[in-house]
Amino acid sequence: MHAPRPTPVEIPDGSVITAKVPPLGPSDRDALFARAKKLLAEKDAVLVAHFYTDADLQLLADESGGYVSDSLEMARFGREHPASTVIVAGVRFMGETAKILSPEKRVFMPDLDATCSLDEGCPAEDFISFCDAHPDRTVVVYANTSAAVKARADWVVTSGIALDIVEHLTAQGESILWAPDRYLGGYIEEMTGADMLLWQGSCVVHEGFKASELEELRAEHPDAAVLVHPESPADVVAQADVVGSTSALIKAVKDLDSEKFIVATDRGIFHKMREAAPGKMLMTAPNAGFGATCESCAHCPWMAMNGLQNLVRVLETEENEIFIEEPTRKRAVLSLNRMLDFARQRDRKVRGNA
Ligand code: SF4
Repeated sequence: MHAPRPTPVEIPDGSVITAKVPPLGPSDRDALFARAKKLLAEKDAVLVAHFYTDADLQLLADESGGYVSDSLEMARFGREHPASTVIVAGVRFMGETAKILSPEKRVFMPDLDATCSLDEGCPAEDFISFCDAHPDRTVVVYANTSAAVKARADWVVTSGIALDIVEHLTAQGESILWAPDRYLGGYIEEMTGADMLLWQGSCVVHEGFKASELEELRAEHPDAAVLVHPESPADVVAQADVVGSTSALIKAVKDLDSEKFIVATDRGIFHKMREAAPGKMLMTAPNAGFGATCESCAHCPWMAMNGLQNLVRVLETEENEIFIEEPTRKRAVLSLNRMLDFARQRDRKVRGNA
């Protein structure tokens, strides 16, 4: 089955990307859902999906024994699951991370053009020159980077563990070179007081959240709690009741007493938030200003390139496999494993103190 290619559209930074997979009618949707489920079982494949992907993919991952999570947990789940094939519904660096951690498995993605503005904004060659110019700094990179950038790093971090790792490094007297997200880097710098040199990348979705419009929305809904992902600008983060990773924001919807939330992250996350706290009211934080027409408003255009259509096509054709050169993979796995080991020790300590 070959779904038609989506139409290219303009996004705020001016680059042309591909619009979301065309919507499906209910009977096509049900047929594709059932076909995908059957193919996953036949091909000994497991589906891991990111919180920002289409709700049908998240439902399929859950129903077929797969997993829906953030990028790190997706890769960790893929590594530990016995299936010989991992299908990653998300963006390119997530597929690469799964392959770095599971070189013996075949890893596929519905669309290999699904990338990320952070990854795109940090080309390996330029980044390596930047690191070489600052040899005295410990190189810490966010998970949203290519395998080649991870291979040059000392540490890979996710938004859920970045603060703890930077605090740990600062306590050892290390100064840091951080890439690629300048907003997340700035937030960590402010929270930890660390000495950080920041690469100037940004996420097209989170950078679009607007502080003044958020203030107006809060004034209209004074009873709403504000949840913000730290890839957002500082003046948006400053208005948050909770700042955190995708997993932390889902937990906040469940745990907080509030019945109403303004959410400054990709609206794909609403699927899991609704599952976690049915009946609570969720609003997206204003993005790109009131009245703006914006194809990617609060929804990542690359995440939207994943759908049931191209998932089924990949399972049928075995196209879109991820390959990484072994020398790059071997270096990248060191910086990823450093984070995983740190997370294990931290979690053990927390359990010990409980
Ligand atoms: S939401 Fe932002 S950080 Fe996440 S994949 Fe899309 S562009 Fe990258």
